[in-house]
Amino acid sequence: MAHVIQVGAGSGGMPVLDMICRDERITQVTLIEPDLYKPHNLQRHLFPASAIGEAKAEWAQRWLQERRSDIEIRVLTCDVMEPKQQAAIERAAADADIGICAADNEPAKYHWDAIMRRHRLPWTLGEVLSGGIGGFVHWFVPGGPCYGCVASFLQRSVKEEQDKPPDYSQPGGTQETAIPASMASIHVIASLHALITLELLDDPEHYNPGFTSLLFTLKRVEGVFAEALRPHRFRIPRAENCLLCGPGSGKGDDLPADLDAALNDALARLNDA
Ligand SMILES: [Zn+2]
Repeated sequence: MAHVIQVGAGSGGMPVLDMICRDERITQVTLIEPDLYKPHNLQRHLFPASAIGEAKAEWAQRWLQERRSDIEIRVLTCDVMEPKQQAAIERAAADADIGICAADNEPAKYHWDAIMRRHRLPWTLGEVLSGGIGGFVHWFVPGGPCYGCVASFLQRSVKEEQDKPPDYSQPGGTQETAIPASMASIHVIASLHALITLELLDDPEHYNPGFTSLLFTLKRVEGVFAEALRPHRFRIPRAENCLLCGPGSGKGDDLPADLDAALNDALARLNDA
């Protein structure tokens, strides 16, 4: 019996949700997704042409219900940062056992991270890199590094590596799909994301696969990835001076008193990197 709360049912989020819902431990889903299904989505998405013009969230519900009629599914057809929906999202998070982030923008990821920490939920994040050259899967637990810790660590590593020649093992950390990825590459990362989510659900307190962030390369790219199909494991520590989860944030895993200011600082720092 597990309640999953997920943000994002796009081309990457929907296959993750589809795969984890085949696991009979999942009995309840709350899905947050604002978008309508558009013609260009067909190339990479699970849904059929008849879904065009309808809300992805509604279609996700129908898709899952046809495969698991016993799951209780609730959809919130809104942006995860929509102020009017925060109370509903908080209520769902308070009742959830695990979170999944398949959001496609940085502010939404930081917002999700804050919600997950506030409710002490384990959660996972999948990111497909631009052009489908590879992707990341990150997992988070209470007391571990937050998304801010991870993002700043990866940004720093990239900066340090920039002077070095090709056997450089990672790209811009959290660069999203500015160049569209193929459905095949999206599904490789989605499968890893689903796998890690289900393993984390087994025992969040003792989960330890030997990394906190997994980068899996899919293509060889001169100056970026020396080899295709190679995993790189990062064990990223909690940053002592993290603005979001460190001592300066006030209460450790709780929200800093002035979240907006901390969030703005963190985003400014990312932009500077
Ligand atoms: Zn942090």
